[in-house]
Amino acid sequence: MTEDDEQRYRLPRTVMPRRYGLVLEPDLAAGSFVGTEDVAVDVREAVSEIVMNAVDLDIAGGYLTSEDGGRVEISEVRLDPETERAHLVLDAQADPGGWTLHLDFRGELNDKLVGFYRSTYQGPDGGTEVIATTHFEATDARRAFPSWDEPDLKAVFGVTLIVAPDLTALSNGPEIQRTTLDDGRVRLVFADTMSMSTYLVAFVVGHLELTDPVDAGGVPTRVAHVPGKGPLAAFALEIGAHSLKWFAEYYGIPYPDAKVDHIALPDFAQGAMENLGCITYREAALLVDPATSTHGEQLDVAETVAHELAHMWFGDLVTMRWWNGLWLNEAFATFMAMLAVDAYRPDWEVWNQFARSRSAALEVDALASTRSIEYPVHSPDDANGMFDTLTYLKGGAILRMLEQYLGADRFRDGIRRYLRQHEHGNTETHDLWDALEEETGEPVRRIMDTWIWQGGYPLISVNIADDGTLRFSQRRYSPSRPDDETKWAVPLLVRQTTSDGRETTDAILVEADGATLPMRSPDAVVVANAGGISFVRVWYDEVLAGRLAGSAMRALSPLERYALVDDAWAAVVDGSTTASSFCRFVEGFADETELPVWQLILTGLSWCDRFLEGEPRDLFRDYVRKLLHPSIDRLGWEASPDEPDLVRALRGTLAQALAVLGDDPEAKAQMRELEGEARGGGDVDAHLASAAVQVVATNGDGGDFARYWQMVHDGVTPQEQLRYLYALARFRDPELFDSLLASTLTDDVRPQDAPFLLATATTNRDLGERAWRFIAEHWDAEMDRFAASNIISLASGARFLSLPEQQRAVEEFFTTHPIPQAGLMLDQTLERQRIYVALRERAEKDLAQSFSGSS
Ligand SMILES: [Zn+2]
Repeated sequence: MTEDDEQRYRLPRTVMPRRYGLVLEPDLAAGSFVGTEDVAVDVREAVSEIVMNAVDLDIAGGYLTSEDGGRVEISEVRLDPETERAHLVLDAQADPGGWTLHLDFRGELNDKLVGFYRSTYQGPDGGTEVIATTHFEATDARRAFPSWDEPDLKAVFGVTLIVAPDLTALSNGPEIQRTTLDDGRVRLVFADTMSMSTYLVAFVVGHLELTDPVDAGGVPTRVAHVPGKGPLAAFALEIGAHSLKWFAEYYGIPYPDAKVDHIALPDFAQGAMENLGCITYREAALLVDPATSTHGEQLDVAETVAHELAHMWFGDLVTMRWWNGLWLNEAFATFMAMLAVDAYRPDWEVWNQFARSRSAALEVDALASTRSIEYPVHSPDDANGMFDTLTYLKGGAILRMLEQYLGADRFRDGIRRYLRQHEHGNTETHDLWDALEEETGEPVRRIMDTWIWQGGYPLISVNIADDGTLRFSQRRYSPSRPDDETKWAVPLLVRQTTSDGRETTDAILVEADGATLPMRSPDAVVVANAGGISFVRVWYDEVLAGRLAGSAMRALSPLERYALVDDAWAAVVDGSTTASSFCRFVEGFADETELPVWQLILTGLSWCDRFLEGEPRDLFRDYVRKLLHPSIDRLGWEASPDEPDLVRALRGTLAQALAVLGDDPEAKAQMRELEGEARGGGDVDAHLASAAVQVVATNGDGGDFARYWQMVHDGVTPQEQLRYLYALARFRDPELFDSLLASTLTDDVRPQDAPFLLATATTNRDLGERAWRFIAEHWDAEMDRFAASNIISLASGARFLSLPEQQRAVEEFFTTHPIPQAGLMLDQTLERQRIYVALRERAEKDLAQSFSGSS
């Protein structure tokens, strides 16, 4: 960072906050708030001006008082919208020492889902009810109160809210005092928080109901929700209590504050936010009915709750010094959530599911427009651009790779050491590597620096050298940059199985010049990324590849089989093999039983389906039916009561594919019946019910469309409502489809959902281009209506438009409509679209030939 950048985006350290005494009076009906703050500060050198952050706030004025009775007035307040700062000009110099800064201010409760904002819902009498709530990460606390809004400027927060007596008000600390004022309002005082960053402050005010507290190892936890949704809170309370206790044990540190409330909000731009003790969520990420929801829907809630609770220590107690460290905060919480949920429900095999996330990261990270995980962050846009696949998923995947390489216990001990060393403080990324290195004696910093500071990942080639040893070499997996010289220190588990059945696994480090390993026997079967955990792709020489085929494949773990399919599809995308050979390859998986392996196969086949028309498409559908039928027949169409969740989920996934990709008339009829039954309250397995909603939509008429809208409003759970909402984007009637598009800019669709609904509409096989045209034509309205952090979603469906003229139109549009808060993500989206255009050009002919009557 240059000195200019430093001054531009970092506040001077002359005045440092210690404790904010905040009093806020939100007026929900008027959509505004009035605030005062008394901030205890240390003046470190004499100042005649105080610089802090403020945006869209009207600061009336204030003064400084010193501990020894001195007083300095603020003679002028200058707001600089561009740097989001307030300059408080003092009428006399304030000398070093302890002072209290008093400020009076007011602001609007905005509708942009950031800062102090309004969320609305329909009350029992049909009228609109308002919740005033907050979302501050990364840099929006400054919209709610003047503040030193940088993560290392930690302070204690003492929050007081003055609200109408019938409202529920929550903040980070527990309520410790309640007084009724002369005007009938109540004054609620919340306990001081631990010292923490501004982005973790929260307050929520509305007609919310609260569950009874559940004791989680001495920490009271509750769920807050709009009236009537209490029955959907039990699952979150259970996973929340489990995770809180589990993390306290894993980290070896008790929960660092007094209580935890989980709050479900009708309008929320992100999935959830780890405000200390006052965690906010989208409703669908917190409220769920286990009896009627799918494994995937429950997993979403479990993972989200665990992720936010993981942050209470990693993020809230120990915090990144600056936003460049955001990736570690998020990657670590992603990783820890998997561990906690795995301990909660081992039968969900979450690390197998995580392979899907790893695939998504591998795909983005193969692009020329990828980035290093960590990079210098200057502006708020730089920080906001970090909330992406590479941060959460690649970051989570490389932490898993490191944990498995070091061993789970040694890794945990290193984490404990790190948290003890830095509690209540701020850190840089290398502080974690250093703690792990001190604990384990392994060169953690050197290994991880190759993964953190360089984009991309290696392809590991394995072959039998002339001397009979196994030889591992690496080069960057980067189709667009074949000569790239980047190298990594690659932790790799290698399993060898000899012909007499003996199995050995070695942990090796493949360095820039490769690595070798003796063969356990000349005919050993070698699995080079055992467990499928390292963030690499693998290429075997012909001899070793031959040994992995056939019966040896059955001995592979689900993740290893998954990795084979993943590498095979990547080879199709990068042009090193054909789509038709992928179709032949997956015929070997007809008796596959693992959900993620099937999901991956079906992803590849759905792409193939997009590239086919006419008779070849009919023959492709025959092929799909033949591929899927053995599994469906084995599973049957009805779930038995004692069946594992993953088996039910597999049935739903395969049944949907049989009906949609296979266009199977019997499956379509069956699904239509199930959708009607489920809608009528019948006892239908959730996975089949959910699949049926999607299937019926792809063949739906106007009557179905109207019923779907009804279910969007009347659905009992957020999950049911969302199933129907997103399924609306699958209808194939242009008129119905257009009416859906138009509704995304009306009150029929919440702004928190609309960008994702439009993105889904862009993936519609037949009508996606209409969705894209709608997005482009209404860009200004969308920018105005949707949260800035969700705008990039509007572009995310573009790669499904794989005709050259579509690609040109999208690219041209974005040359004049940049998305500065997600510039790199946009580049990646556009590059992926070009890749899929090229794939289509190759695959159309290849697949048409392969699926032709004459072959
Ligand atoms: Zn997070």
